[in-house]
Amino acid sequence: MSKELYELGIKEAQEGLAKGEFSSVELTQAIIDRYHAKNGEIGAYLTFDEESALAQAKAADESRTTNHESLVSGIPIAIKDLINVKGQPCTCASKILKGYISPYDATVIRNLKSNGFIPAGRVNMDEFAMGSSTENSGLGVTRNPYDLGRVPGGSSGGSAAAVGGNLCIAALGTDTGGSIRQPASFCNCVGVKPSYGRVSRFGVTAFASSLDQVGPMTKSVEDAAILLRALAGHDEMDGTTPPDPVPDYVKALEGASMKGVKIGLPKEYLAVSGLDPEVKRITDEAIRTCEAAGAELVEVSLPHTEYAMAVYYIIAPAEASANLARFDGVRYGHRSEKATDVFTLYTKSRAEGFGPEVKRRIIMGTYVLSSGYYDAYYGKAQKVRTLIKRDFDEAFGKVDTLLTPCAPTPAFRFGANPDPLTMYLNDLYTIPSALAGVCASSVPAGFTNDTKLPVGVQFICGGFEEAKLLKVSKAFESLKV
Ligand code: GLN
Repeated sequence: MSKELYELGIKEAQEGLAKGEFSSVELTQAIIDRYHAKNGEIGAYLTFDEESALAQAKAADESRTTNHESLVSGIPIAIKDLINVKGQPCTCASKILKGYISPYDATVIRNLKSNGFIPAGRVNMDEFAMGSSTENSGLGVTRNPYDLGRVPGGSSGGSAAAVGGNLCIAALGTDTGGSIRQPASFCNCVGVKPSYGRVSRFGVTAFASSLDQVGPMTKSVEDAAILLRALAGHDEMDGTTPPDPVPDYVKALEGASMKGVKIGLPKEYLAVSGLDPEVKRITDEAIRTCEAAGAELVEVSLPHTEYAMAVYYIIAPAEASANLARFDGVRYGHRSEKATDVFTLYTKSRAEGFGPEVKRRIIMGTYVLSSGYYDAYYGKAQKVRTLIKRDFDEAFGKVDTLLTPCAPTPAFRFGANPDPLTMYLNDLYTIPSALAGVCASSVPAGFTNDTKLPVGVQFICGGFEEAKLLKVSKAFESLKV
């Protein structure tokens, strides 16, 4: 049975376009129709500029027939609402940026466009990417397409729901402490958090600048490779991106196999209390499947894991408090009508514009950076971060990749984590690798028996080892189908 156009992934869409089975306008229209049919229920998108998407699709169709390029242009990609696309809203799901229109394209958007992709639609997220369920969005509710009573994960919950619910061909998300990988796990998609510096952050609204990365959220590992190949590389506007050439991530998938792959199992990760028994079962099965396919299992230790959560919740809020200082009612977005002088312009605009979690992070971040506390909190956290990074360096001296659960539970119900700390614990498995700056993926691994919810496993590789990461992820994906 052939698939509906909206069900296609990037690779399938490229093939269909190349063979002339359908046009980019038809493909984009299929996504728009699906958006009209389903977005009311799922709430993946905040806004969708149909006219602009169709105009770009039309241009792609025309250029494709006039010059036969190898690049197959005209595939729409959903964009997390914190990445700037010229002429489009960029709200970060915050009331403070309601009505803001981007004056320029982020580098990742320029890269997408020059590789023939169409940024189409703005997807929901936790406000300023702070959260793990998209419940912190100031602008809308996003539901998990596998169970509408549950969250899609976060902060890239709109991206994950759009991919998992077939409301897009693929999406861009961002990951600071797990925001690509955890929602990918909750919504049955592939998600890749690239190494820090692999993808430019220019034009991506900053949350925690030493951690933020943009990455693909897709229906297959090959699609993730195609999209990452387009996104990655040096950008003179982002000094963290090295000038070295980007490997061909799609070619790197050739011959993907588990044979002889050394898979490290971090003993600290499997000993975690609070790991859902079904997630444990699915992860154990994934480990056994890899072993049966020829992988060698090696127990490794990441001894500083227990400090990662505390380190992250010092460093990320500290950086956020500095980054979010720019939203002051003067240059961007919301300006309070109750302001009587410049001081109340700042305080009232921020008090009215930011939601509770963002305020909590700004207060925490300002506190840990304040004089007298800086060395005790921020300075200390930076030192422990170095130890966490060393744990990973040491592990990757022994193994090719690490295999771990992606999140401790499957998608949970709305309101299930009312206290911030229990919500933070969702990122237990994704935060350490984010702090270390290495790359990691989430790959669908199965469904829970009772609730039939998707669960992903996480593969982690060393810094700038995306080719290896994608190859191992592809090998695992092939074993599952
Ligand atoms: N859930 C984590 C947080 O709330 C990570 C968010 C992210 O990766 N953007 O900070």
